[in-house]
Amino acid sequence: MSIVVVGTVAFDTVETPFGRGENVLGGSATYFSTSASFFTDVSLVAVVGEDFPEEHITFLQGRNIDTAGLQRIPGKTFHWSGRYGYDLNEAETLDTQLNVLMDFQPELSESYRDAEYLFLANIDPDLQMKVLEQVRKPKLVACDTMNFWISSKPEALKKVLRKVDVVVINEGEARQFTGEANLVKAARQIIALGCKRLVVKRGEYGVLMFTADSVFAAPAYPLEEVFDPTGAGDTFAGGFMGYLANTGDMSEEGLRQAIVFGSVMASFNVEDFSLERMKRLQYQEIEARYKQFKVLTSFRDISY
Ligand code: AMP
Repeated sequence: MSIVVVGTVAFDTVETPFGRGENVLGGSATYFSTSASFFTDVSLVAVVGEDFPEEHITFLQGRNIDTAGLQRIPGKTFHWSGRYGYDLNEAETLDTQLNVLMDFQPELSESYRDAEYLFLANIDPDLQMKVLEQVRKPKLVACDTMNFWISSKPEALKKVLRKVDVVVINEGEARQFTGEANLVKAARQIIALGCKRLVVKRGEYGVLMFTADSVFAAPAYPLEEVFDPTGAGDTFAGGFMGYLANTGDMSEEGLRQAIVFGSVMASFNVEDFSLERMKRLQYQEIEARYKQFKVLTSFRDISY
């Protein structure tokens, strides 16, 4: 089954202790759709400006991503600048230039309106809502967000959170959004807003998945080389949703397995700058790391 995703397609300028990339390909929808494309068909709804090179669109199409919903309008492409210190878990935003995002009017074609899987990647929550309202009867809707929108549009964001099945959010953003330091309490508050399931991304510490009465924890794959964490969250979400759309299995077990596939995808993305690792990635590598993940987390129950 295919996924419709709305989010940003961007130029990123990123600095980590290991290097710097200037105006490289980025954006929440770019990372998400590339990751999900390893598991299922993806249709991208986003906007770029006149300055966006054709080669990036050719790359997305080469991954079989449907770019019919990628608008090109007059102006400059969305641009994000960020920096990571040795603690690669937290990005410091240096600058956000919305540019063409300010004039973006997402209009879904008839076939996109029938999408069964919808991912509202990190973008203006008003735009997330506009897309959500156009999709008729989705089987699963998930969304992401970040500190920029939590502080600038908290009410619009709350309206979106109430209408989705799964919220995927960073640990720091869950705390910021609720004003609650304890993550379990913060998760309860977000679920109380009306979403059924919350996935909290914790960088190198892994992922927690909450419902009103359960918690599942998965570690991050331990890597020796981490170069650039940009897009790890979106790549995680792409693997998670891509796997779910592929299997159609929404049981608790199916969702847990999807969390592991999301974690596997994110572990590859951080191994190089921008989408460079994803460009080289082969499906056999995903399967091999999934198997290593099982070894990593298995233990024998000897005392009970
Ligand atoms: P992640 O590291 O997965 O949280 O996402 C990184 C991507 O988010 C980068 O490639 C940025 O282009 C994009 N991004 C940064 N700030 C924003 C924002 N305010 N809204 C939407 N996307 C953003």
